[in-house]
Amino acid sequence: MRIVLMGAPGSGKGTQAQRLVTRFHIPQISTGDILRQHRKEGTELGKRADAIMAAGKLVDDATMLDIIRDRVARPDAQSGFILDGFPRTQPQAEALTTLMKDLGTPIDAVVLFEVGADELVRRISGRRTCSLCNKVFNIFSAPPASPATDCAPGSSEHQLFQRKDDEEATVKERLRVYEENTRPVLSYYSDAGLLRTVSAEGAPEQITQRLLEAVGSAAAAAKPPGGAKPAQPAKSTRRAAPRKRAARAAAKRRGAAKTRARTTGRRTPIRKKAKSKAAARRRARPSAAAARKGAGKSRAAQRRRSRKSKR
Ligand code: AMP
Repeated sequence: MRIVLMGAPGSGKGTQAQRLVTRFHIPQISTGDILRQHRKEGTELGKRADAIMAAGKLVDDATMLDIIRDRVARPDAQSGFILDGFPRTQPQAEALTTLMKDLGTPIDAVVLFEVGADELVRRISGRRTCSLCNKVFNIFSAPPASPATDCAPGSSEHQLFQRKDDEEATVKERLRVYEENTRPVLSYYSDAGLLRTVSAEGAPEQITQRLLEAVGSAAAAAKPPGGAKPAQPAKSTRRAAPRKRAARAAAKRRGAAKTRARTTGRRTPIRKKAKSKAAARRRARPSAAAARKGAGKSRAAQRRRSRKSKR
């Protein structure tokens, strides 16, 4: 299963992606996490992305596509993945369609997480990360337990910090960038019949439930952009067994009779026709009893004839 999660920063994509990971055993591919890892390791890309991320802007499409191309080719992503944070622009979305088409594995569903503007700001401004264990909390809605039992070994309290791009000024810019660059991508997926929208407000369990329903129906009705057909189970080339063929032919006859009745207004049930044909055949053929009776009569006449000739 290949799913794209979309939504404004703070809409809860990351949290829900984690739940899908546990359920479907496919990796979450978060481009934000990949870039943060590069930053942490001080790679060339990390250094380049640092200022862009801190300002709430977007890293260029070519770089992001290189990251995705490399990531989806890894062994753990072969049976599916959950994209979180990609695509964020129209060119990224189109490049993703081409990439998936080349690989023969189209995207099954795109889910949009919808959250009101006030709730978004509350979520982002309350978000804190633990520098020891990397867990993410929200000081308003999901504060860490104290003392902490799930932090790094030896630590009884989480060391929380606010991501630079979660600071108020940057959050505003990220929301603006989302509206300008990412929201238009939604109609691309909507036109392809892939987009499902879920309300991402309420208890996390309720949101997960809505997400699972959306993913289920979207995967079933998937029509990937770019014209590629979703994978179908291979059709058997063997001819159907005789009994199946007969059943199919009967169903076809019934269907034709129904259509006739609908278009002509006359009811000509096929079963009735068949019954009257059978009755006509019976009338034309002598019954078994009559045949026996007939046979009996001719045997008696033969005996009478042979008695006469003896006399
Ligand atoms: P996220 O954690 O998904 O909110 O991403 C954090 C930051 O990483 C974003 O604000 C962007 O600067 C950058 N980023 C993540 N994904 C993309 C992407 N698909 N295209 C461009 N920039 C991205």
